[in-house]
Amino acid sequence: MAADAGQTPTAAPPSPSEPIAKMDAIVSLCARRGFIWQSSEIYGGINGFWDYGPLGVELKNNLKALWWQRVVRERDDVEGLDSSIIAHPRTWAASGHVEHFSDPLVDCRACKKRVRADQLDDAGPCPARKGTSEHDWTPARNFNLMLSTQIGAQQDAASQAFLRAETCQSIFLDMKRVRESARQKIPFGIAQIGKAFRNEINPRNFTFRSREFEQAELEFFVHPSEREKWFEHWLAQRLAFHRELGFRDERLRVRPHRPEELAHYARAASDVEFLFPFGWQEIEGIHDRGDWDLRRHSEYSGKDLSITDEETRERYTPMVIETSVGVDRTCLALLCSAYAEEKAAEAEPRTVLRLPARLAPVQVAVLPLAKKLAEPALRLAAGLRRHFAVFYDEAGNIGRRYRRQDEIGTPFCVTVDFESEGDAKVTVRERDSMAQQRIADDAVAAYLRERLEGGG
Ligand code: ATP
Repeated sequence: MAADAGQTPTAAPPSPSEPIAKMDAIVSLCARRGFIWQSSEIYGGINGFWDYGPLGVELKNNLKALWWQRVVRERDDVEGLDSSIIAHPRTWAASGHVEHFSDPLVDCRACKKRVRADQLDDAGPCPARKGTSEHDWTPARNFNLMLSTQIGAQQDAASQAFLRAETCQSIFLDMKRVRESARQKIPFGIAQIGKAFRNEINPRNFTFRSREFEQAELEFFVHPSEREKWFEHWLAQRLAFHRELGFRDERLRVRPHRPEELAHYARAASDVEFLFPFGWQEIEGIHDRGDWDLRRHSEYSGKDLSITDEETRERYTPMVIETSVGVDRTCLALLCSAYAEEKAAEAEPRTVLRLPARLAPVQVAVLPLAKKLAEPALRLAAGLRRHFAVFYDEAGNIGRRYRRQDEIGTPFCVTVDFESEGDAKVTVRERDSMAQQRIADDAVAAYLRERLEGGG
């Protein structure tokens, strides 16, 4: 008997006009299957903080590894960095964060609700006022978004430090050291992935706006005459990356900043936006930051961060093209883009995550058709584990087991059945088409490697 989920292998491929999944279905799947849930759940949760469970951490690590592969490893002109989260406090004075990194905040005098002044529509009715549901807002005041901490035993202003609000500032502090130690010449870049912290007034939309999150940032240092060229280069590279994640054109767009939106030092900026169930939102920013950061750090540290061109002897401060993507926002976009509830004719309805195969938390599930077949199935799983992220499951109805794998995005299931012993073949079942084929058990690893590395 060959493995049979009672389904025809004819599920329709994803249609471009598929409806956008509901957010609550995705949030519930994430908690139920161990992707993401609220931090400190047993204490009632803590607003704006999230934990990535067994499947979530695999997805996030795979995404970070792909970014690192494309941005750092495949290029001669980009170096990696892992700097400390807490930098010298002067860093944040120089960068302008101490003075300017704030959002306008208002309080309701009646119910004490506190919201961003540009998000009053989200506040809902006031529960505390009599005769009206309108809030009684205070005038807006600026609220600094940096989270602070104390260093050492002294608890005074001199010991105050900040958890970084973005990962890029240390890249500027370390630019000279990296350039010299890695023997790089302009143009070159420094990339870093790491945690950033912002005391957001209203964390919301699941992980979209959190207080602790991860960024993957690249600061690319160029000659002033080449800034437009490199801005266009990195914008194109980054869009190609998002397409590689499976984001279809109708859910991905570039929004150039209007001149009045640009930071005073910036020449150009574009947001890469994704269409979430809650609307179009930024997942990445590509910025021409000019020489602002290096100049400010030169000024505040007293260390000259300009460079001399070895050939022309020209002395100048490099311009910076930045790409800054939120790892958590991109994970969320991946989940939203991959999620589908299917009701194909003649097949049982299923929920499926059509994640790109190389990002899936489990790449191959090994499923013996019956417990009696555990021994050869475990042997097969052990061999495959050396190459892939493997999950082994021998309990329950095979159709249900397939569906549990579909729901977490496992691209391939390999089933050992009663005929396997005789013909030395197993059944490989694909997530998207649900097509099944018999393959020699010693050829499975090569087959899967080709499918997974060839993009699934
Ligand atoms: P927003 O306008 O949504 O607050 P931003 O323009 O302040 O974002 P940047 O400072 O450009 O964001 O940060 C770069 C990237 O870091 C963003 O594109 C986003 O993906 C991510 N990011 C920023 N703030 C948060 C947050 N509070 N939670 C999760 N990710 C974030």
